[in-house]
Amino acid sequence: MKLLSTSVRASEGIAVGRAFVVRRTKSSINREKGSAESEKSLFATALAASREQIAHLAENSDIFAAHLEIIDDEMIVDSVETAINEGCSAEDAVSSSCEQIVSMFEAMDDEYLAARAADVKDIFARISQNLAGGVINPFEGVENGDIVVDRELFPSDMALLDFSKIRGFVTAEGSTTSHVCIMARNLSLPAVVGLGDASAEITTGDRLIIDGAEGLVIVNPDEYTLNDYLTRGLNYQALKQEQQAVANCEIFDGDRRVYVFANAGSVEDVERAIASGADGIGLFRSEFVYMQSSQEPTEDKQYEIYAAAARACNGKPLIIRTLDIGGDKAVPYLDFPKEENPFLGWRAIRISLDRVDMFCRQLRAILRASTDGDVRVMFPMVVCVDELRDAKYYLEQCKRELEQGGVAFNPNIKVGVMIETPASVFIADSLAAECDFFSIGTNDLIQYIMAADRANVKVSKLYNPYSDAVLRAVQSVILAAQNANIECGMCGELASDNLATERLLTMGLDEFSVNVGSIAKIKYELNKLTTK
Ligand code: PEP
Ligand code: MG
Repeated sequence: MKLLSTSVRASEGIAVGRAFVVRRTKSSINREKGSAESEKSLFATALAASREQIAHLAENSDIFAAHLEIIDDEMIVDSVETAINEGCSAEDAVSSSCEQIVSMFEAMDDEYLAARAADVKDIFARISQNLAGGVINPFEGVENGDIVVDRELFPSDMALLDFSKIRGFVTAEGSTTSHVCIMARNLSLPAVVGLGDASAEITTGDRLIIDGAEGLVIVNPDEYTLNDYLTRGLNYQALKQEQQAVANCEIFDGDRRVYVFANAGSVEDVERAIASGADGIGLFRSEFVYMQSSQEPTEDKQYEIYAAAARACNGKPLIIRTLDIGGDKAVPYLDFPKEENPFLGWRAIRISLDRVDMFCRQLRAILRASTDGDVRVMFPMVVCVDELRDAKYYLEQCKRELEQGGVAFNPNIKVGVMIETPASVFIADSLAAECDFFSIGTNDLIQYIMAADRANVKVSKLYNPYSDAVLRAVQSVILAAQNANIECGMCGELASDNLATERLLTMGLDEFSVNVGSIAKIKYELNKLTTK
């Protein structure tokens, strides 16, 4: 029996099954390198075949729709053709360009963007295979109930492997925000990722136990351990079923309705959240709309997305947060200056108030979508009342423009403020007097209160949501909201932590906005606490 572990929490759940270790043989062919022109033409043929395959897959998958945008990016053709001009064969040019572009993505500070390196690798792997004569399925031989073990799983593997027939997967590389991890959480498929070279100790046919919540893999367990985990697996399944049973409940704490909203970054997230029992969307991260585009999305494009999200809510609230870029999130077309302290720099509402035309295009798109549902608008990183007043001033100006143009919108759209800085905690009473709701962003609030970078593992002990300073701040914000008679929600990760639910409920939190996979868990916890 061997124990392998990782600190990455990919997708919770316990699975026992036979290991299937994927062998990805590099496609290679022996041929004489031709002239630069003929190498470029071979590459062009493989690129066109790859594009056609991806376009076909994109008909049923957003992931491949994103691949389509990447493969159409001139950077790929430029980089491969430059390498061919420098004397490489088409195959070598594809492989060196892949390394170059992937390392560029991996170097990005933003975890979400860094995880997109997997998409780029995936696309280049497809081009390589097409150069060698066709796409190979590395999952031939996977049996029902297997646990798939691979160096890394790629989005396109979803078209080759039926994930519903396996019990889970283990990878050496990958992060919690990679597409396959997100998909595993959606399917409630246990997964352990980021195991590193330890994964090489597993061979096909080994019996495996995986515990996704603990990031643990047990290879060839003894009988006692096996029985122990089989029981734990059954208990986990039973708990999941109990949680699922209350996912659509309305929660009341006495007379007070307590809402479980969800955080979303796309219309698909909204659809999944509502189907999973969410009472609304407490945070629609509009920056993803900007980050997935090579130029600023037009007002019409944004309107389409916000309106689709509003319709997907079926009348339940949709809180759209205006652009929260900067810090660790960048977009190429915004020309960010190099900053010494990006988290204390040009980000979120600060950018919006500096780039008023862009801000107003977003506000008009949000206002237009407000006729498609209960749309609300929320401003990120507010630190003083003037910022809120300025943002509201532009909102009113946009309302007037729409009115003059005869465009419909909800004139009483609710306006909220994210409380995610110590400054906003201290002036919560003043802010509450001028807005309709609060949402506490603990992800940033903790890092600013504790002076501990949210992404720096060296200070992760200090980045503690349960520290006195953080809990007192949360309580004082809720009290300020109550005094002003406005609702107070929380959209930071702390809302998804069931160990915090009782405390937050007692403090008087009205709305828990959680990640989609945690809706049933938090509803269950709240239901237990309010019906005992
Ligand atoms: C937060 O800071 O808690 C939050 C929800 O915003 P983000 O994680 O997008 O910064
Ligand atoms: Mg934040």
